[in-house]
Amino acid sequence: IQSKLPGVGTTIFSVMSNLAAENNAINLSQGFPDYPCDPELTQLVTKAMKDGFNQYAPMPGNNFLKETIAEKVEKLYNVKYNPDTEITVTAGGTQAIFTALAAIINPGDEVIIFEPAYDSYAPTIKLLGGLVKTYELAPPDYGIDWDMVKKLFTSSTRMIILNSPQNPTGSILSEEDMKALIRLINGTDVLILSDEVYEHLIYDERKHKSVMLFPELKERSFIVASFGKLLHATGWKLGYCLAPEQLTKEFRKVHQFNVFSVNSPMQQAIADYIKEPSNYIGITAFFENKRNYFRSLLADSRFELLPCKGSYFQCASYSKISDEKDTDFSMRLIKEFGVATIPVSAFYQKATDYKIIRFCFAKENSTLALAAEKLKNV
Ligand code: PMP
Ligand code: GLN
Repeated sequence: IQSKLPGVGTTIFSVMSNLAAENNAINLSQGFPDYPCDPELTQLVTKAMKDGFNQYAPMPGNNFLKETIAEKVEKLYNVKYNPDTEITVTAGGTQAIFTALAAIINPGDEVIIFEPAYDSYAPTIKLLGGLVKTYELAPPDYGIDWDMVKKLFTSSTRMIILNSPQNPTGSILSEEDMKALIRLINGTDVLILSDEVYEHLIYDERKHKSVMLFPELKERSFIVASFGKLLHATGWKLGYCLAPEQLTKEFRKVHQFNVFSVNSPMQQAIADYIKEPSNYIGITAFFENKRNYFRSLLADSRFELLPCKGSYFQCASYSKISDEKDTDFSMRLIKEFGVATIPVSAFYQKATDYKIIRFCFAKENSTLALAAEKLKNV
């Protein structure tokens, strides 16, 4: 058959996690915790099942959960979203991204993305007949020159995808970035898809600059969030999308036909759990400590650590160790040293290779220590 996605293979996250398992390597590749989520949360799922939450949830999401999300967002950002018309519960961030793009992108529409990027963006755009316009970010800071972004704008530009804190680089967008973006889109009808799944994972006292804080951006943005990150439960595949009413209307037209609604007992349990902010507010310090610990472990290795301002990923250059391609080097790390990572070229469509690999530090400290022992021999 004629492939709709020629050139697309299996996602790097499956490839590396499978290789880690086959080679019995420590898996610092795919981003997920190796420790359990709070037992209180799993008990709440059992409770929700016993309480009868076992049939379809309402199409846009459990009402209690949507209200709780609205409360959480207002508490954190002092911004209001209407649970009835502006919040939709999704099967993780990935489905929210897919659905927002499917609701908006027509064949020939152009979407601007910043690479290295989470690997679902480009294939989803292409699947919809859209054209990917790429801005390549470069180490060590992965900053954006907005005048260069402007050069990517054409009359076909339909959307721009932001991701802050960023996967895989751990970089973040500042207030100045947001102001430059506002100037850039002023007078256009370009929409924004803002992937904020790492909103709580931002360090060194920095504050997350959500697009919702800027009315000129909020009015044209889909914001994507993930409970997988917030609750250390990536396998639950639950998240949500915030968007103004007109955008949410279009979003739900697609959502109702690609999943209809998502896991009912878990929605109820999550609402019960996050109703209490102390159940998630500590996550920032928790991951900041892990980042600091992992960086300290690698301080006397031959890897050069890049800045990590957010996310649960630490990037490192190995250019002082080897001039192999990053894909070859990460293979060798698995096979010879027993540590699985992600080669950052996997996040560029052109496989741009800066000799950088990505470690996930959402792991037990003992896992990080064991990995570091091995990495010190590299
Ligand atoms: N966006 C980014 C930047 C991610 O790293 C991820 C995955 N961890 C997602 C979206 C998808 O989130 P989910 O697992 O909730 O689908
Ligand atoms: N976001 C996670 C990562 O970057 C993995 C998501 C996935 O496996 N699709 O590692």
